[in-house]
Amino acid sequence: MTEHITRLLDSGKIPDEEQDHEISLRPARLEEFVGQKKITGNLKVFIESARLRKKSLDHILLSGPPGLGKTTLAFIIAQELGVNLKATSAPVIDKAGDLASILTGLEENDVLFIDEIHRLSPAIEEILYPAMEDRSIDIIIGQGVGAKSIKLNLAPFTLVGATTRTGLLTAALRDRFGIPLRLNYYEPDELKKIALRTAGIIGVKIDEDAAFEIARRARRTPRIVNRLVRRVADFTVVMKKETIDLEITKYALQKLDIDELGLDEMDRRILSSIIEKYSGGPVGLKTIAISVGEETDTLEDYYEPFLVQTGLLKRTPRGRMATAGAYKHLGLDYNLKIQDEQPELFGEE
Ligand code: ADP
Repeated sequence: MTEHITRLLDSGKIPDEEQDHEISLRPARLEEFVGQKKITGNLKVFIESARLRKKSLDHILLSGPPGLGKTTLAFIIAQELGVNLKATSAPVIDKAGDLASILTGLEENDVLFIDEIHRLSPAIEEILYPAMEDRSIDIIIGQGVGAKSIKLNLAPFTLVGATTRTGLLTAALRDRFGIPLRLNYYEPDELKKIALRTAGIIGVKIDEDAAFEIARRARRTPRIVNRLVRRVADFTVVMKKETIDLEITKYALQKLDIDELGLDEMDRRILSSIIEKYSGGPVGLKTIAISVGEETDTLEDYYEPFLVQTGLLKRTPRGRMATAGAYKHLGLDYNLKIQDEQPELFGEE
């Protein structure tokens, strides 16, 4: 049962305060999970089948940008199966022994959730292969010539791996997941439902149009919806209003530097740096990272997918390029770029 959920180790990507809130905001059952209907519809069938056959569910790989609900789904899967969930994150499993002790501690049909699974080291991956396929691990006892390898059998279990980047997974690992599921960005109507639900849970009243405004500007991501609802609620309380209305929402979003498309200050800095320092690109990701003072990984996992999705950024073989839409959004003249690219036509005298 999920009372036994052990959050072994956190990925460290969410500050504590937010993590506490997130746990209470997490939908616990499949029918409460908003959107991603194709995924939840299929999962329902697979879970039901595993329950009826009293077998472990096949291994599941969840992929997609941060905040779309991968961890939430892993918790729901365990809950729906009526089994324990152990959660950990690849960067913290640095010794073979760590993984071996997690695996041997699993009970029949339990779910093991490994976040950021693309970051497992090759040596640790080697242990996972037989565990996933034959439910066994080889452990080495002793050292040097006296070392012995013994095979340990494991209880049947389901590995749920989550990754922001399937491309970084080795083919060998990827192929061992029987159920690969890719989460997509959410539609504003779905995010509105999440905003209304979250406001209800944290105990603030919210108007429908205010919920939609938050949804529309939340980078199509449930985690951001939750964060914005909390921040807009702060403004509402301080301004001694009873209900989050459209006016206060717009005011708060402006104070939070979130623009009409839902871009934050860093999104805009990325685009303006490509345009102003590199004539709109193409420019390499590392160069952009240095120029805006952000980690390359964060750019690639978090910022870039949304900017590409909104059509403001283009990935090309020679690097990233700001699109005409990006110029327009920042109020810059796209013709300036065209002049830049054709100096022989414009710049001679
Ligand atoms: P990920 O693991 O993909 O980074 P999480 O599962 O941690 O994302 O989701 C972040 C938060 O967003 C969760 O705490 C949950 O409250 C909310 N959330 C995510 N997906 C949904 C959904 N489909 N319906 C309702 N809330 C969701």
